[in-house]
Amino acid sequence: MTVVVFLEPGFPAGRVADASVPQLSVLDQGATRGDGVFESALYVRGRVRKLDAHLARMAVSAATCELPLPAEDAWRAAIATAVAAYDAALATESGDDAGHEAVVKLVATRGPEGAGHGTAWVAVSPAPELGRRQRAEGVDVLLLDRGYDSTVAERAPWLLMGAKTLSYAVNMAALRHARKQGADDVIFVSSDGRVLEGPTSTVLLAVRDGDVKRLITPMLETGILPGTTQGALFAAAEAAGWELGYGPLEPQHLVEADAVWLVSSVRLLAPVNSLDGVELSRDPELTAELTSFVDAIG
Ligand code: PLP
Repeated sequence: MTVVVFLEPGFPAGRVADASVPQLSVLDQGATRGDGVFESALYVRGRVRKLDAHLARMAVSAATCELPLPAEDAWRAAIATAVAAYDAALATESGDDAGHEAVVKLVATRGPEGAGHGTAWVAVSPAPELGRRQRAEGVDVLLLDRGYDSTVAERAPWLLMGAKTLSYAVNMAALRHARKQGADDVIFVSSDGRVLEGPTSTVLLAVRDGDVKRLITPMLETGILPGTTQGALFAAAEAAGWELGYGPLEPQHLVEADAVWLVSSVRLLAPVNSLDGVELSRDPELTAELTSFVDAIG
């Protein structure tokens, strides 16, 4: 079950479209070139989680790509239309399920070649079961070379590092590579040996030092995507007395940490069980505390 709402002139609340039939021009540069930006947010209990942060990041991604974007009000109106239609369809299909999780995907492309306008839509569909399983069971991870050094973002802005563009074929290929080797996920490492991010997640690690709990993530200057889950978790952890840190991190820091997680908006928080086949230290108490922070995210 998927609900699609296009943002179009003349439709202030968005235009609901039939998701079961084709809706996109074959000339759309989002499809032909991966030229566009997107966001994936979690929808649960009538609320799109961290919507402000997702809209703000999409605006930055679009600016990085010099891509015109519909106004924020238009996105909010289309999202409201889409989740209302989704809720109605869900109630008909499976009754009331307060804990049901859905993905709200926001997409904006450069539009059909020569059209002079972009294409933008909101799609709401059930969240994949995999994310929930990974939260509970954790993930086995491979370290993979990203092929860029950690200073490339500044040196080569045309690579659009740190923007959430539609060009995710490389990220998906990395995940397929890991799965062929029997792993679940990937942590990219720069060619100069810095820990970066997962193909669809941010890396977090925790270090206990007596009573002090320190939460650390790779620094953004390495060209990674600023994670909205990481941002919200850091704010909650700081309020609860944790110390925060921003790497430069190397793989050895992951091996020596008390716990490592992959975090993202739909999967939320997945403990990393092993790295390149080596068991990592896990800390169920810290996982429970961070999970309570994630669950409280507005
Ligand atoms: N890094 C990359 C490359 C991603 O694609 C994602 C999300 O899909 C993240 C990090 C995590 O971002 P967020 O927590 O905002 O979902």
